[in-house]
Amino acid sequence: MSTLPNGWEMVVGLEVHTELKTQTKLFCGCANAFGSEPNTNICPVCLGLPGSLPVLNEKAVEFAIRIGTALNCVIQGSSFHRKNYFYPDQPKDYQISQYDIPINGIGFLDLPDGTKVGIERAHLEEDTGKTTHVGGSGRIHGSDESLVDYNRAGVPLVEIVSAPDIRSAEQARGYAAELRAILIASGASDGRMEEGSMRVDANVSVRKGSDAPFGTRCEIKNLNSLRSLQRAVDFEALRQIDLLEAGESITQETRHWDEDAGRTQTMRSKEEANDYRYFPEPDLVPINPTQAFIDEIARSLPAMPAQRRVELIAQLGGDPTQAQRDQLMAAVELNVDSFITGAIHAGVTPAIALARTANELAALGDEIFSLPLDDYVALLKLEDAGALSATQSKAVLADLVAAGGGDPAALAKQRGFEKLDDGSLDGILDEIIAANPDEWRRYCEGDDKLTGFFTGKVMAATKGQADGKAVNAALRTRKG
Ligand code: ADP
Ligand code: MG
Ligand code: ZN
Repeated sequence: MSTLPNGWEMVVGLEVHTELKTQTKLFCGCANAFGSEPNTNICPVCLGLPGSLPVLNEKAVEFAIRIGTALNCVIQGSSFHRKNYFYPDQPKDYQISQYDIPINGIGFLDLPDGTKVGIERAHLEEDTGKTTHVGGSGRIHGSDESLVDYNRAGVPLVEIVSAPDIRSAEQARGYAAELRAILIASGASDGRMEEGSMRVDANVSVRKGSDAPFGTRCEIKNLNSLRSLQRAVDFEALRQIDLLEAGESITQETRHWDEDAGRTQTMRSKEEANDYRYFPEPDLVPINPTQAFIDEIARSLPAMPAQRRVELIAQLGGDPTQAQRDQLMAAVELNVDSFITGAIHAGVTPAIALARTANELAALGDEIFSLPLDDYVALLKLEDAGALSATQSKAVLADLVAAGGGDPAALAKQRGFEKLDDGSLDGILDEIIAANPDEWRRYCEGDDKLTGFFTGKVMAATKGQADGKAVNAALRTRKG
C-alpha cells in the first residue's frame, strides 16, 4: 500500500453513477439500450418537447430499492426535483433528480479488508445525453465540432454517494470493485465501466494525521476504470500535499483526469459552480413504496459478494492459501464464482475449479455467461481425471466458450488432443535425454532449474499433450 509522506492522510468520498438495467427509460417508453444508432431511442418526453409529460418507470423504482437494500440503506418515501442547468447534452435544460429526500437514505458497505464505508444516499435520477467532440484531443477545447446523441437522455440512474470514509487509493479501488460486484449481484445494473454504465467521481482531500479536521476537497471526474480511479486518487493526494507543503492552499474545484498524461487538471472552480435552483418536479407525484413491496424485494435479493466469499472459503476446505484467496476475490468480483461453486458441487477438485475459473474462464469476457455450467463441469472433469493436460484443458475451454457450449470431449478430439500413454512419454524422454546429455547431467546433480527445460522439451515434442505433473514425476523417478 502506498503511504503518503510526512504523516499526511488522504480522505476520499466517492460518487458513483450506475445505469439501471431496465428495458425502457425512466420517464418514457424509449428503449434503454447501449450502442444503438445515435438519436434513434428518443421521443418528445426524453427530448423535453413542450407539452410532454413524464411517467415513472416502476421497474426503475424496484431496481433502485434493490440497490438500496443491498447497501443496507434506509428505504423511504421520496420525491423528485428539477435540477436546472444548461448543457447541450441535456435537452430539457433541467434534470429530474432527487434532492432533499432520496429513495435510499443512510446505509453502509463492508469492504473485504474489514473497513465499513458509510453510504450517505443512493438516489434515483435520469441520465443526460452524450456529447462527442470531434477533432483535436476529444475534449471540447480545440475540437472542430460537437455531436450530441440523446439515446442516453432519460436512462435511469442511481447515484450512490459514499461518506468520506476511504483513506487510500487502494481502498477507493476496493470500494468501487465491491460496489460493482454488489450492483451486478442485485440484478439492477450490469456494472460495465467500459460502456459507461458505472461512472465514478472521486472527492479527495488531505490532512495532517487522522485527528485533524478535513481539508478542502477536489472532485475528480472522468474515471472510467478501476485503474484510473486508483491512479487519479494517488496523484491528486500528492498534488495537494505538494501545494500545502509549499505554503499554498487548496481551492475547491472540479478536476478532470487525463489518463494519458497521468494527471488531474482544473475543469471548473467552485466559484463557477452552478446554482441549480432545485424545485419540486410538478409533473410527478412522490414515490411511496409499500412495506410489502420493499419486503418482497429484500426477500428476492440473492447472496451478496461478502457472503459468497465466506461460502466459497468453506467449500475450499476453510483454509485457502493467499494465492487462492486472491483467486476467489477476483472470481466474486467478476461474478464468475457460481461456476466454481457449481463445479465443486458436481464433484470437481476444488483447486482446479477455482484456478480454471479465476484465471482462464474469467479472462474470456462476457460470453462466458452463456456457457452452460454442465459443459464447463464436463471439461473440468476430463482434466481432473487426467484425460486432458492443463494446457489442453485451457485450449478446449476457449473453444467451448467461443461455441457457446458443447461437448468438451468432442472438441478435444477435434483438436487432436488424446491422452498420452505412459509408454510414449517414456520413449520421448529417452530421446530428449539422449539429445541433451550435459543438461541431464546437471539436472541429476541437483540443478532443479532444468526441470523447466526438460518439461518444455516434452511439451514441444508432444504439442502440449503431455500432462505437466506426469512429466515432472517421470523426471524425478529417472533422476533417482
Ligand atoms: P456535492 O453535492 O458538492 O458533490 P456532497 O456533500 O454531496 O457535495 O459530497 C460529495 C462527496 O464528497 C461525498 O462522497 C463525500 O463523502 C465527499 N466529501 C465530503 N467532504 C469531503 C472531504 N473533506 N474530503 C474528501 N471527500 C469529501
Ligand atoms: Mg459532487
Ligand atoms: Zn423517450
